[in-house]
Amino acid sequence: RIAYVNGQYVPHGQAYVHIEDRGYQFADGVYEVCEVRAGRMIDERRHMERLERSLREMRMAMPMPLKALGIVLRETIRRNRVRDGFVYLQVTRGVAPRDHYFPAPGTPPSIVVTARHVDPAKGDALALQGMAVITVPENRWERVDIKTVGLLPNVLAKQAAKEAGAREAWFVDAEGRVTEGGSTNAWIVTRDGKLVTRPAESGILRGITRTVMMDVAEKLQIRVEERPFTVVEALAAREAFVTSATNFAMPVVRIDGQVIGDGIPGPVTRALRENFHHHAEIAD
Ligand code: PLP
Repeated sequence: RIAYVNGQYVPHGQAYVHIEDRGYQFADGVYEVCEVRAGRMIDERRHMERLERSLREMRMAMPMPLKALGIVLRETIRRNRVRDGFVYLQVTRGVAPRDHYFPAPGTPPSIVVTARHVDPAKGDALALQGMAVITVPENRWERVDIKTVGLLPNVLAKQAAKEAGAREAWFVDAEGRVTEGGSTNAWIVTRDGKLVTRPAESGILRGITRTVMMDVAEKLQIRVEERPFTVVEALAAREAFVTSATNFAMPVVRIDGQVIGDGIPGPVTRALRENFHHHAEIAD
């Protein structure tokens, strides 16, 4: 495997950043994960727009022109011969002697890109079965709209899920409402067939897959309500699922050990999953 590190393509096993990289010391960086399908990026434009936004919110500049970044992403995909999988991009505030204040102007950001093949059959197999989630108290900061590499609460929540025999953890706010998963957005299908997902204005990352899924729902004439939903409501839902660039729409069949709907993936989730790639934007 090959990684791109600050201007060079290097063997993955020798791809290093400095110990005083601010990503390492302060989680002072942002990232994006973009699906690769048949060798092409899915929704590249939207991912790049979100990257620009994350950087802006962090008061960081784009590390290189968008066009050049696109070339690096493609080249990393190509060099790793990724047909299906994902490409990962991380930008940090660079290397500087450890000090909380921003480094001196002109300090170059660190840029890392990796790409990996993932067998699509694995996700499809899981989607036939559906997955379990647990709920955990929301304990993250208010700026989860920024896709930062500061993911410790997400790491702890997902590990707790794993140890409970589940794959994902849903964060729940003080009012008992689901915010999102550790690395996914959360959705339910109500008894009367409406899709419900939390508004992106607060408490969640605005998932690219979430945005595209809204279009898919519209095309399938499924009504979407952007409003918070509670765990109680989710437990009584007909279907539940999560979305992310690596999962598309993945059915949730158990929440905290309780069966959702019939306990098998439902037709609405299946339809959204099957139609997702007809609506996603395929890059050159
Ligand atoms: N929410 C969180 C916390 C995430 O980390 C992710 C993706 O990694 C998502 C939601 C889904 O976002 P996307 O659909 O852009 O992958």
